[in-house]
Amino acid sequence: MTRDQRVSMDVADIVGVSMCCHHCKTLVEVPLKELSRPPQECPVCKQSWFDSQGNEDYQSIKFLGRTVEQMQKSKPLGVLNLKLQLTPSIFEK
Ligand SMILES: [Zn+2]
Repeated sequence: MTRDQRVSMDVADIVGVSMCCHHCKTLVEVPLKELSRPPQECPVCKQSWFDSQGNEDYQSIKFLGRTVEQMQKSKPLGVLNLKLQLTPSIFEK
């Protein structure tokens, strides 16, 4: 018998993101409040992570930060409890 394991987290539990440089493997932790201006290059090896501030991935990271901050501040979903579902494999990494 297999067990159906569900892993979830509250939006309020999100405090930031981790960005790992593929070039030198440096891990940069960016607090949620700083996601409005995420780093564009690795602080150690200076590898460029985005070709410009208009880069779609760069804009998506900024959008993620704004969205999470907005949801934490205004609690627009006050009549329900919204949780993000995560893959159980996160504990295997
Ligand atoms: Zn690097």
